[in-house]
Amino acid sequence: MNYSAGTDYPNYGRISGPIVMIGYGSIGRGTLPLIERHFDFDRDKLVVIDPSAAVADDIKAQGYRHVEVALTEENYAEVLDSLFGEHGAGFCVNLSVDTSSLDLMKYCRAKGVLYIDTVVEPWGGFYFETTDNAARTNYALRERVRDEKAANPGGTTAVSCCGANPGMVSWFVKEALLTLARDTGRDAQVPTNREGWAKLMQSLGVKGVHIAERDTQARTIPRPAGVFVNTWSVEGFIAEGYQPAELGWGTHEKWMPEGAHAHDDGCQASIWLSRPGADTRVRTWCPTEGPQFGFLVTHNEAISIADYYTVGDKAAPEFRPTCHYAYHPSDDAVLSLHEMLGSGKVQEEHYILSVDEIATGIDELGVLLYGHEKNALWFGSRLSNEETRTLAPFQNATGMQVSSAVLAGMVWALENPEAGIVETDEIDFARCLEVQRPYLGPVEAHYTDWTPLQDRNKHFREELDHDDPWQFRNILAV
Ligand code: NAD
Repeated sequence: MNYSAGTDYPNYGRISGPIVMIGYGSIGRGTLPLIERHFDFDRDKLVVIDPSAAVADDIKAQGYRHVEVALTEENYAEVLDSLFGEHGAGFCVNLSVDTSSLDLMKYCRAKGVLYIDTVVEPWGGFYFETTDNAARTNYALRERVRDEKAANPGGTTAVSCCGANPGMVSWFVKEALLTLARDTGRDAQVPTNREGWAKLMQSLGVKGVHIAERDTQARTIPRPAGVFVNTWSVEGFIAEGYQPAELGWGTHEKWMPEGAHAHDDGCQASIWLSRPGADTRVRTWCPTEGPQFGFLVTHNEAISIADYYTVGDKAAPEFRPTCHYAYHPSDDAVLSLHEMLGSGKVQEEHYILSVDEIATGIDELGVLLYGHEKNALWFGSRLSNEETRTLAPFQNATGMQVSSAVLAGMVWALENPEAGIVETDEIDFARCLEVQRPYLGPVEAHYTDWTPLQDRNKHFREELDHDDPWQFRNILAV
């Protein structure tokens, strides 16, 4: 099938050599038509690796070769050798779970193959078999990738963590900073380097950033008991939900949560808590629902954004924002989490809501920049499932925000093939958003006067900081 036929979608160039997509789940399925639509490539050289026999017919129906194998630490080099050969060209698009992002990007860079993924994923078993919680953090996973970047700078481009979040939200932070600069009468010139961006955030008085997401997508039938229902990877969400809660830790914070652990090596931009993120709630704000709870699920961007916007010495910074995910997933996913955490058992049946059965709802995914003179600014995408249907096939609104970020990252990599290992904070946000924006529905800026001190229950005494509404102490819900 060719999804670009009869349209005038922008063509972003030719990918020479094989394209190997690893993983054909909710994101892989949605990304494939975007690759078809926006790139020239040899169709007989596009291969999808996925261990599931259930996806074989679908991949074949799209006209591509399916390699039915689970990549492991033992077999990945052999499998990829058989697909990439000695060409020194091509693109590896990793959209799987249970494969090591670090090993795969090292392999690709050694071969001269462009690489992209949406998360720093470890080999299967890591999340649940590792007993040391510090080793299970995204901090630890990210640091290994940063170590590799430092040890082997430059070379073939590998874009790390380029989905919606992590990914697109880093571009939103930059757009939001420029919006805030303009709206407060400041110089809104685009900074030219990391230090400039960090100083801009500092000078604007931003204390922190929530990745504030509200997913209201729903179908008409109630969630059956014993089924984990989500709008994207159930496996991925459970894995990250059971990792320790984690957040970039800002210089304005005066208090440490119970069970908090800092790091004394690496970038030192974040802390982790001795409790699962999926069982840790925070207060945040999104345009549709206004004030709401979100889950403090660990994400790479909570650390990378806090790191990127650090001013001064990493061990004793002059400025660093607090940054974390505040995720209100779809109502079915909230109920699924509730059931899983309450029973202590992961449901055996997993289900991802498809675009066709979702009857209502949007994925409202943005960044909430708080603590500045205009209080708080939410900037993000408010994409409905209904609009998604008109944009591209095989995905709901959540998937569209992710797959279009993968497209943007692929375009950037193709245009910058020797940039080494990069995170999305480090690449051209304007170019990436230019590519991605047609797929994001309304992208809007909303100011709010909400703070986490607003409308607190007066019947119970809470230890709050009334001098600074934006202390994490006020945001964390206990
Ligand atoms: P999914 O669970 O729907 O699909 C994952 C696919 O990986 C499955 O088809 C599975 O068979 C395949 N797979 C499992 N083990 C494999 C192995 N060893 N080798 C090759 N393939 C294997 O997941 P999804 O929703 O498509 O998400 C894919 C990835 O994208 C996940 O890592 C997820 O965490 C990530 N993600 C990132 C973002 C973001 O915004 N950054 C958003 C959504 C998903």
